[in-house]
Amino acid sequence: MLTEKKRLELENQGYRIVGNHSAVKICGWTKNALRSRGMCYKNTFYGIQSWRCVQMTPALQHCNFRCWHCWRDIATASREWTGPVDEPKEIVDGCIREHLGLLMGFRGNPNANMKRIEEMKVPLHFAISLTGEPTMYPRLPELIDEIQGRGMTAYLVTNGSYPEMVEKIIGHEPTQFYITLAAPTEEMFIKTTNPLTKHAWERFNKTLQLMEKMKCRRVLRLTLTKGHNMYNPEEYGKFIKNLHFDFVECKGYVHVGYARYRNTRDNMPTHDEIKEFAAKVAEAAGLKYIDEKPESSVVLLMKEDRPDRILDFEAELRNEVELPDILDSKPGGLPILNSNSMPKNSGLKIIQESGCGDNCNC
Ligand code: SF4
Repeated sequence: MLTEKKRLELENQGYRIVGNHSAVKICGWTKNALRSRGMCYKNTFYGIQSWRCVQMTPALQHCNFRCWHCWRDIATASREWTGPVDEPKEIVDGCIREHLGLLMGFRGNPNANMKRIEEMKVPLHFAISLTGEPTMYPRLPELIDEIQGRGMTAYLVTNGSYPEMVEKIIGHEPTQFYITLAAPTEEMFIKTTNPLTKHAWERFNKTLQLMEKMKCRRVLRLTLTKGHNMYNPEEYGKFIKNLHFDFVECKGYVHVGYARYRNTRDNMPTHDEIKEFAAKVAEAAGLKYIDEKPESSVVLLMKEDRPDRILDFEAELRNEVELPDILDSKPGGLPILNSNSMPKNSGLKIIQESGCGDNCNC
């Protein structure tokens, strides 16, 4: 359960808590996009509209891994789900409400892109990634259905350690399924992820096998930290060769948030180092370089590029996007809010987290 002290700490870091175990936080790229100052690499690679993206988690305090690269507080890691299980509909409604509440201040920003300010009121995308391990949430398939049933897309990011839940989401798949490929060998995997769950490597591999059955877009993401898991690219390439995926992202660790207490700046690779590493992975796996985003230190690899890589959000919009009933849907209307007010002077020591995007899980 979330303690009051932890809740205040999270709210001071910019989170808004939804129900018993969910939360939103505005991604740094969402803010940038609202000021026309660039978008996240998922915009470059897949067409995600960053200004209409809700970055959320249904598993705020639940993660069974303690990865070296994680920019979150890993002190709250837990082996199993405990506590109440909220309704998926309430989670989606609450996340949209709190997300819009956090964005309200942009309306008065003279540097804001007004067209995007109007559009942000109808979110198009849920990034189920903010913190925690979402496959621990017992009603995840219903949550994905709830999001997609409203005409929005969903990106789900997992550490792959709950194959039982991954099996259940087959048939309820998100738009894009991300799995973090922390290492290609058991030894490196255990050192990098520091799991609480037993047989984590075997369970991760079971999830990788389940990906063969998925009809959604599947991504293997390598989050590469110098001194931990950024060596032996050929081994990664050989491992990847036998897997089932559509995209491979090679992404550099970024020295932000709580990760600063575990690593040093020297653990952060440069974009050139990521490019060089990605080229070797690609060669060993028989993949091609497709694109890159130096600001986020990330390179995209695929077997072959394909026309539908960039999602057609205009087509999504031509379908009816269900407006949340928490919105006043009149043109120019304002969201009706039910936001918690930011606690001030709580006296807590605040660990500042950067905005999502550079070291995000999404
Ligand atoms: S980085 Fe992730 S959370 Fe941020 S706008 Fe892009 S998809 Fe959304």
